[in-house]
Amino acid sequence: MSLLKLEDVQVSYGGIRAVKGVSLHVDEGELVCLIGANGAGKTTTLKAITGLVHAAAGKVMYAGTDIARDKPYEIARRGLALVPEGRGVFPQLTIQENLAMGAYSRDDRAAVAADEERMFALFPRLKERAKQTAGTLSGGEQQMLAIGRALMSRPRLLLLDEPSMGLAPLMVEKIFEVIRGVATEGVTMLLVEQNARLALEASHRGYVLEGGLVTLEGEAKSLLGNPQVRQAYLGE
Ligand code: ATP
Repeated sequence: MSLLKLEDVQVSYGGIRAVKGVSLHVDEGELVCLIGANGAGKTTTLKAITGLVHAAAGKVMYAGTDIARDKPYEIARRGLALVPEGRGVFPQLTIQENLAMGAYSRDDRAAVAADEERMFALFPRLKERAKQTAGTLSGGEQQMLAIGRALMSRPRLLLLDEPSMGLAPLMVEKIFEVIRGVATEGVTMLLVEQNARLALEASHRGYVLEGGLVTLEGEAKSLLGNPQVRQAYLGE
């Protein structure tokens, strides 16, 4: 059974159908990416999964239950964490405090402390700056912190919305290194990206979204070799 399974999910904003019928699944331990152009409906799909918008039709099955009508906090409590587009770290709080916020619902103090150390091992840059406020970090460092904060909740499923957005190429490489590292630890992830090449190179499987519909899906390797994908998304 898949950990996450969307069945013909549709979302409208007023009269505009942003997501016209998306079906996809993410199995335990998988890194799956959702690629597509601006406005294809990628962010809206993530919002429908996390309860930030409600699907007008379709099912969002998570661990065997339809969560399509649940509230965001109920969904978060069930182990689904979102790193939103634009990161959303708390700029006035230190890095350490931001990480602690990610673990606020946990009461296993010793394990939280161990996880903080794990985050600092994963992101040495954050360790050096632990007492600095998050607002003083570079965009890439804030992205790392946002991922670290989400991981501090020990999510069963981590959703990442355009983690490479607005970052310099070198930092994009670093973020993807981190994502691959997190995947190696066995964290299940759904990754939304406009950088199709890096996303597919890091992922097990992928879906291509166009105009609110899934137009292609498959093993990441075979999508990387697909002529349509190469032409439309890999700049060839
Ligand atoms: P991007 O990479 O630009 O974020 P996306 O693939 O994530 O693109 P969405 O943000 O999901 O796409 O948007 C899908 C469509 O829905 C777009 O046509 C967008 O203009 C529209 N849309 C998104 N949010 C709203 C909203 N709050 N109200 C009205 N229309 C919206």
